[in-house]
Amino acid sequence: MVTNLALERYLAEQLEVEHFHDYAPNGLQVEGRAAIHRIVTGVTASQALLDAAVVAGADAVLVHHGYFWKNEAPVLRGMKRRRIATLLAHDINLFAYHLPLDAHPELGNNAQLARQLGILSDGVLDARGLQGVGHFGCLPAAMTLAAFGQQVAQALGRTPLLVSGGEHPVRSIGWCTGGAQSYISHAIALGLDAFLSGEISEQTVHEARENGIHYIAAGHHATERYGIQALGQALAGQFGLQHKFVDIDNPA
Ligand SMILES: [Zn+2]
Repeated sequence: MVTNLALERYLAEQLEVEHFHDYAPNGLQVEGRAAIHRIVTGVTASQALLDAAVVAGADAVLVHHGYFWKNEAPVLRGMKRRRIATLLAHDINLFAYHLPLDAHPELGNNAQLARQLGILSDGVLDARGLQGVGHFGCLPAAMTLAAFGQQVAQALGRTPLLVSGGEHPVRSIGWCTGGAQSYISHAIALGLDAFLSGEISEQTVHEARENGIHYIAAGHHATERYGIQALGQALAGQFGLQHKFVDIDNPA
């Protein structure tokens, strides 16, 4: 057992929350009951995840994508009202960690995705102090883009969108989970063979082709499933909690 406030303090320290300027608050976003025995983790605090947490009897829900984003309307209406009403009605705590969970060197989305894909990390892609979230590194052996695409599909259970930047194989690679397609510029600056992120924009295709770098769009949700799971497992071990990861399918 751990109390909600003690858990928030512990996570603030572990994830170095104070070092990040983020688009949403990192920590306890909606306060529920004090005692936490059972946690549910998920990528996004959607209604479906909250409903699953209620069924599971969770005391707390931990997510990567929480609420109260900077560009969001500051009122509790519609979808947002229903979600928060669900949490309050069942006295469930909502904890959310965005950039700190992307960046953590062991539990983070980028570190965990590299484990899933068998990529070895050499360093941080965008060295902006402690906020660097993307990585660069290499595959154990060079392979064609098509073969790497198959490996990604197998690891993530989702077929990636591949943009070829030429005939060269993939050996050196940059990656950043989620919607980090603009980070392709860092990978180009480093002269990497390929860059992988979750999402893709129209212009990303031209950037890849004209700069001779392969681009792999592997899914925002699919690339960000692993950090929150690793965090939930670590907390279960640390505090003797019951932990369940709930994957709400999302093709984007
Ligand atoms: Zn994300």
